[in-house]
Amino acid sequence: MTLFPDTALPAAARHRRREAPAAASEALKDKALEIHRRLCGVYECPIPYFHSLDPLSELISSLLSHRTRNADSGRAFKALRARWPDWTEIEAASVEEIEATIHGVTWPELKAPRIKAVLAAVQERVGALTLDFLGDMSVNEARGWLEAIPGIGPKTSAAVLSFSTLRMPALPVDSHHHRVAQRTGLIGAKVDVGPSHAVLRAQLPDDWSAQKLYDNHEVLMLHGQRVCFHRSPACGRCVLLDICPTGQVRKAAG
Ligand code: SF4
Repeated sequence: MTLFPDTALPAAARHRRREAPAAASEALKDKALEIHRRLCGVYECPIPYFHSLDPLSELISSLLSHRTRNADSGRAFKALRARWPDWTEIEAASVEEIEATIHGVTWPELKAPRIKAVLAAVQERVGALTLDFLGDMSVNEARGWLEAIPGIGPKTSAAVLSFSTLRMPALPVDSHHHRVAQRTGLIGAKVDVGPSHAVLRAQLPDDWSAQKLYDNHEVLMLHGQRVCFHRSPACGRCVLLDICPTGQVRKAAG
C-alpha cells in the first residue's frame, strides 16, 4: 500500500497550509475554562462517545450529517452499509443509486457525488480505502491531509479525528457550539464556523486529552440544543447568565 501519495491533487491543495492557531488572551482562556467547568457540571462530563466507527466510516457519516437531523443521517448511513457492506463496493455504484439510498438526508443530490468523489480521492492518495494511518500523524497533519480533499472542511476533519475510533484530540465546532461561543463572547459576531475552530481550540489548554476536547464540544453543543436555543434562548435558567454578554443584554431588556 502506498500511503499519502498526493500527486492526484492540485498543487495548491497539496501544499495548502493549515492556519496557525490564533493567539488567545488570558481572559478568554479563563472564560473558556469557566464555561467548560460549569457546563461539564450540568451535562456530567466525561460524556460517553456516541460513535465507534473507523475513521473512513466516520468521514462518510460526517458528510451525511451536514444540516441533517442525527436520526436521518444515522438512517442513511445504515442504509448505505446495508446496501454496500464494503466501501470498495460503493465505488462502483452510480451516483443515482447512492442518492436514492440516502434520500432521507438534506441535499442527497449533492452528498451522493461528494461521497463518491471523497472515496475516489482516498483510494487515489492512499491506494486503499482506509484512513487508519491518520492515527500515526499529529492532529494538525491529519487535519491538513483530510482538508486537502475538496469538500472536507475543519468541522469534518475534526469530527473524523475526534469521533472515530482514532479518538484524537481535535475540537469540532457545530452550529450549536458556534452559537453558544458567539453569545458568550468567546468569539466575535463575525467569526464563521470554519475559522472559529482555530480560535476556540487556542483558548483551551494545549495538553488537553481527546476526551476533554470532546467533552468541551459536546457540552457547548448540548447547551445550544437544550438551553441557548437559536430563536429564544432560555437565559433565565442558564448557568452562564452572569458571564454571558448576550444574556445580560436580554436580562436588562426585560
Ligand atoms: S445566558 Fe442566554 S444567551 Fe447566554 S449562553 Fe445562556 S442561554 Fe445563551
